[in-house]
Amino acid sequence: MITGPSGVGKGTLIRGLLQRCPGVQLSVSATTRAPREGEVNGRDYHFLTEEQFATRVERGEFVEHAEYAGNRYGTLRSELERPAEGIVLEIDLQGARQVRETLPGATQVFIAPPSVEDLEARLRGRASDSPDQIARRLDAAPTELAAKEEFSKIVVNDDLDTALGELVELAARICGPDSRDLS
Ligand code: 5GP
Repeated sequence: MITGPSGVGKGTLIRGLLQRCPGVQLSVSATTRAPREGEVNGRDYHFLTEEQFATRVERGEFVEHAEYAGNRYGTLRSELERPAEGIVLEIDLQGARQVRETLPGATQVFIAPPSVEDLEARLRGRASDSPDQIARRLDAAPTELAAKEEFSKIVVNDDLDTALGELVELAARICGPDSRDLS
């Protein structure tokens, strides 16, 4: 599972990992947040209403779920049943803590920014989020950054290629010998 503050580049790194490791699949999370431009239901997220999300929580359909920046996010059990060498979960800190309990064998990776200033600059530069969403994400960042040491593996996303190389190495067990060298 991959955790780290919003804006740190988790999405870009995960896309790179999926390209390099054909046997690995992404768990598509459910969320109540509105789709960003270009996001597709079922591919980027399962976009649910508050009511749909709550019903699925009641039915016990989530492995973990959390509230982040005013919206709900969660991993559906059905996503972990995908036929794949390995499954990648992109989740926030609260979700990671839950998964640590329920799936103790999962590799836990924290993606860290090179500096707090760098993270702030990346978040503020995100045109796809409203000023309110950016402010909420900035608020959440210190708590998330302070939890870095809870994770057995930390990748600093300073240079994208270097960070991706480190991530692929960490995923070697599930990436397998077929991993594609795209460099
Ligand atoms: P975003 O709205 O930017 O796509 O995601 C906001 C935060 O929610 C990110 O930190 C992301 O990792 C987290 N997130 C995405 N999917 C899940 C999920 O299934 N569960 C949890 N707990 N967090 C998630």
